[in-house]
Amino acid sequence: MTSFEKFVSVCKRIESISGSLEITSIVAQFLKELDEEELGITTYFIMGKVFPVWAEAELGIGPNLLYSAISRTSSLPVKRVEELIKETGDVGLAAEKAILSGKNHMNFFSTEELSIRDVHTRFQKIASLTGKGSQDAKIKNLQYLFGAAMPDESVYIARLSIEELRIGVGEGIVRDAIAQAFNVTAELIERGYMLTNDFGLVAITAKNEGTSGLEKLSVILGRPLKMMLAQVAGSIKEAVEEMGSVAVEWKFDGARVQIHKDGDKIIIYSRKLENVTLSLPDVVTAVKSHVTAKSAILDGEVVAIGKDNRPLAFQEILRRFRRKYEISATALEIPLYLNLFDVLYLNGESLIDMPLKHRREMLEKVCDKGIVARQAITGDTSVVDSIYKDALAAGHEGVMLKNPGSLYTPGKRGKNWLKLKPIMETLDLVVIGGEWGEGRRANFIGSYLLACRDPDSDRLLSIGRVATGITDGQLNELTGVFKELIISESGIHIEFEPKVVFEIAFEEIQKSPNYDSGYALRFPRLVNIRSDKSLEDADSIEKVEQLYIRQKGK
Ligand code: AMP
Repeated sequence: MTSFEKFVSVCKRIESISGSLEITSIVAQFLKELDEEELGITTYFIMGKVFPVWAEAELGIGPNLLYSAISRTSSLPVKRVEELIKETGDVGLAAEKAILSGKNHMNFFSTEELSIRDVHTRFQKIASLTGKGSQDAKIKNLQYLFGAAMPDESVYIARLSIEELRIGVGEGIVRDAIAQAFNVTAELIERGYMLTNDFGLVAITAKNEGTSGLEKLSVILGRPLKMMLAQVAGSIKEAVEEMGSVAVEWKFDGARVQIHKDGDKIIIYSRKLENVTLSLPDVVTAVKSHVTAKSAILDGEVVAIGKDNRPLAFQEILRRFRRKYEISATALEIPLYLNLFDVLYLNGESLIDMPLKHRREMLEKVCDKGIVARQAITGDTSVVDSIYKDALAAGHEGVMLKNPGSLYTPGKRGKNWLKLKPIMETLDLVVIGGEWGEGRRANFIGSYLLACRDPDSDRLLSIGRVATGITDGQLNELTGVFKELIISESGIHIEFEPKVVFEIAFEEIQKSPNYDSGYALRFPRLVNIRSDKSLEDADSIEKVEQLYIRQKGK
């Protein structure tokens, strides 16, 4: 049985280095030493998780509960615990300090060592506590763990209890470490993970059965698998040239659902793979009455249609997904309509390795027409164009262009599913910095750092870089203009006086910690140099926030 102390020492080693190859090999070495059960648990723990992604168990430990448990264990007042968190910037270090300075630490007298399994079992117990009195019971269980832990173990118990380990081990490292530990390819581990959402299961399979076992891993009814994602299409013409003929469907303005049907038991998962079944009774009824398959995993989009027959804003759909009370009233107010576009599993068999065309035939066989998204297979760009226009006219987002011969690749944003939608509104942004180019472009400024205004603080907040959409002629001209505005340089980085405004098109706004604004632009492209606009005319952070909220799915 492996001690929790051993896990802690591995975490500490990882924290002291930064190279991901070295981290991977430390994790791999550790995974090799574990028995089956510990191996499963450790693949979660090492990423700061307690349960696999698909599991519905939740610890339900918030900051207040954690502070109370630390306070009770150490006999320090909660206020002092909070101060320690402020001082150290970390709940783990604060827990250690508190417990070391406290009086009631039982491990100073205890000889029993905590094992990895003990910690997990206790967390399972905590997750199982619900209802009246559960808060106090959770605190007591956590207090027990802290009491039984050595001070340095309490660092990691505190962090695990709020599922933030902060040692920089993510999915990529765990995937590579499992592959390294059990001498199998990272691709097979990745595939297994996309199918099962469970590194524990994948690692145990790799350990016990190697490559052949991993190859046998498949879709599991009742366990969500990652959804296939789409890339942006360059144009209809490009997509048709690439695929020959394309399967065209409306890109519905709604929310993604993955539906698992096992006889009368229906489970609906959201895009984030949360079980949203209870909030969507009308969708459950639709599946029960319109899907004839005994068992199936179906992929689709639900849309809410307003009185004017147009899709309601995404926020309205979210109200449905998040609803815990008065569900039927909200369902009447915002009814959802199902548009299924794929089937991944049918009557005991996985279909993900079958071509889309075949999956589509199966889908049509087992579902009534009314809940299946219409699809046309065509090589004629004018047909695609007219479907695209119809979709926009009906208030939807655009079209999806799918390769009819493609397999379903869970979790992948590949070339087999392309999305085509109108470019969003543009933003007028101030250029605050840049970078010298490389190679042929070494004497030119190759990319520009953009910012929006913050009217409250009068500051400029960075939001991304643009390098696309700049013609060779503009490259020269802009370099000339911006050379006059250089404030400082360091290596290839340049800072400019904020004078020039660029009009920027983009695919999407995303949240991002990398820029001061907290947002980043996906696929930014220079549309115009707005010499008619001054710094004060540039768009503000409010506009960015509005556009972000208006985007679908965010
Ligand atoms: P995006 O979120 O912009 O990457 O676009 C992909 C999303 O479009 C999917 O996750 C679905 O929620 C949504 N979608 C709407 N209609 C379809 C469709 N016919 N096929 C696939 N995805 C669709």
